[in-house]
Amino acid sequence: MQALKGQNDTSPLIGMELSDLRDALGPEQPSFRARQVFDALYRQQVADLSQISTLPQVLRQQLLTSFQTGLPVIEKLYRSIDGTQRYLLRLADNRTVESVLMPEEGRDTICISSQVGCPVDCKFCLTALMGLERNLTAGEIVGQVLMVARENALKAAENRLNVVMMGMGEPLLNLENVLKATRLLTEKAGMALSPRRITISTAGIVPKMQELGRAPVRPKLAVSLNASTEEQRRELMPITRKFHLKELMAACREYPLRPWEKLTFEYVLLKDVNDSEADARRVVKLLAHLNAKVNLIALNPGPGIPFGSPSPERVHAFQEIVRRAMPCFLRRPRGRDIFAACGQLKRVNQDLVSL
Ligand code: SAH
Repeated sequence: MQALKGQNDTSPLIGMELSDLRDALGPEQPSFRARQVFDALYRQQVADLSQISTLPQVLRQQLLTSFQTGLPVIEKLYRSIDGTQRYLLRLADNRTVESVLMPEEGRDTICISSQVGCPVDCKFCLTALMGLERNLTAGEIVGQVLMVARENALKAAENRLNVVMMGMGEPLLNLENVLKATRLLTEKAGMALSPRRITISTAGIVPKMQELGRAPVRPKLAVSLNASTEEQRRELMPITRKFHLKELMAACREYPLRPWEKLTFEYVLLKDVNDSEADARRVVKLLAHLNAKVNLIALNPGPGIPFGSPSPERVHAFQEIVRRAMPCFLRRPRGRDIFAACGQLKRVNQDLVSL
C-alpha cells in the first residue's frame, strides 16, 4: 500500500484547506477525494477517519496510517449553573487551552482561544499570569469549534452559532493562523459560518489591525479599550506602551468597515479606577466620530487580581452616559462560578473556590 504524505500518524488533517488536502492525498487521487475529506472533516464533523464512508476502504486505511484528525481531546468539562460550559482541551503536544460555550435563547456562542497563554499582561486578567506558551495552529483554533459543536450538536446552518476569539491569547499576534481558521470556518463546503458571526477581540495591536483590514475574508473586530487616557491604559495594559491610544484611535478611524459592520469597543469596569462619570464622558469623546458600539464588562474577579467590581448603580450610571451617544450594552457575566467568564481563563482545574 502506498503511503500518503503525512508523517507517520502525527500529521493533523484539521487545519488543512482544500488545496492542502489535495497535496496531502497526492496526484494519484482524483481531486474529488480531497473534497470528500474536506466535507467529512468540516461539514459532517467526523471524529474518526475510518468513518469517512464516502471513501474506498483502501484510502481510509491509508489516511489512518498517515494522518490523524487533529481534534483536541476533552480533558475536563465544567458546567455552570447558568448553562455555560468551560472545556479544558488537550492538544497534541499535551498543552491545554480553554473554550467556553454560552447557550442562549436564540443563539449559541463559542468563545475560543488563539494562543496558549497570552503575552499581553493586562493587570485585570487571569490569563496574563500564565505568560505566552505558544501560538495555536489554524487547525487547533478550528478544532475547538468543531469539538464543542460536535459535543452539543450545534450547526452553523441553523444560523444561531456565533464564534468569538476572546478566550486565551491575543489573536492579532497570531494573525496568519487566525485568518486561516476564519477561512476554514466560513468555507461554504464546510462549516459555512457567516463572517458576521465571527468576532475577534484585540488589545490594540495597531499594525496588525491594518493587516486584518486588508484580508478578503475576515471576522468582525472588537477592540479592548478599557481606559480613556493614555496614561491609564498604559498602566492597565502594559503592551499598549508600544501602541499608543492616539495611534489606536487613528487605526480605528481608518479601519475599513463593511456596510453592515460597526466597530465594537470593550471596556472592563474596575471599581474606583476607570468607572467614574468623567471616564464615561472621555470614552464618548474618544469614540464620538466612529461607527462604534460599546460593550461594558464589570470586572470578573479572580485570585491575585488587585481590582474590584463596581456596584450595579455605578455600572448603570456609566452606561447611561455612553448610551446617549452610541449603542452601549452591558455584557452579562457567564459562568463566573466555573471560572469561565471574561478574564478568568487560566486553566483553573483544582476544585473550584467560590468567589
Ligand atoms: N487579547 C484579546 C482577547 C481577550 S478578550 C483582547 O484583549 O481583546 C477578553 C476580553 O475580556 C477583553 O475585552 C478583556 O479586556 C476582557 N477582560 C479581561 N479580563 C477581564 C476580567 N477580569 N473581567 C472582565 N473582563 C475582562
